[in-house]
Amino acid sequence: MISIQDVFNHLHTHAEISWEEYETTNYIKKLLESEGVQQVRTFPDIPGLVAEIGSGKPVVAVRADMDALWQEVDGEFKANHSCGHDAHMTITIGTLLSLKDQPLHGTVRFLFQPAEEKGNGALTFVSQGLVDDVDYLYGMHLRPAEELTCGEFSPVIKHGAARFILVKLMVMTLTAQDHI
Ligand SMILES: [Zn+2]
Repeated sequence: MISIQDVFNHLHTHAEISWEEYETTNYIKKLLESEGVQQVRTFPDIPGLVAEIGSGKPVVAVRADMDALWQEVDGEFKANHSCGHDAHMTITIGTLLSLKDQPLHGTVRFLFQPAEEKGNGALTFVSQGLVDDVDYLYGMHLRPAEELTCGEFSPVIKHGAARFILVKLMVMTLTAQDHI
């Protein structure tokens, strides 16, 4: 039996950025197969994977994002799981392993989706038809402890907003003479 803490530690220390989550894909695939999960599907041209347990309707999907951010950490630029996707994958793997030997009335599909940070990973999974027959789809995202205490869930992010803007910075060097 694997330790879920070990799973988190591995994922946290092997971060990969959007569309490069191939090692992460391989790690989860091997882990699930070693735990006896029969239906694990990967893709020839993109990272990410889908695992399924049970059969028939309803189809319940549980989704986790996989990618890390490219950030400076202790003076070095590297892929860094600061958004919590390592925890999302760990929670989803833990959920799968908890359910896999339970009697199920229907299918539970686990979507390990790449490239959440780019905004196009989910669309790619949709275009693969992976949610066409899904009746219920669940996903979650960690929030800072200041917003939600441990064990608490919120149905929405009430304050969140983001927008991409392109900025051109012009750096000017002032000399002592410029101030006169
Ligand atoms: Zn995130």
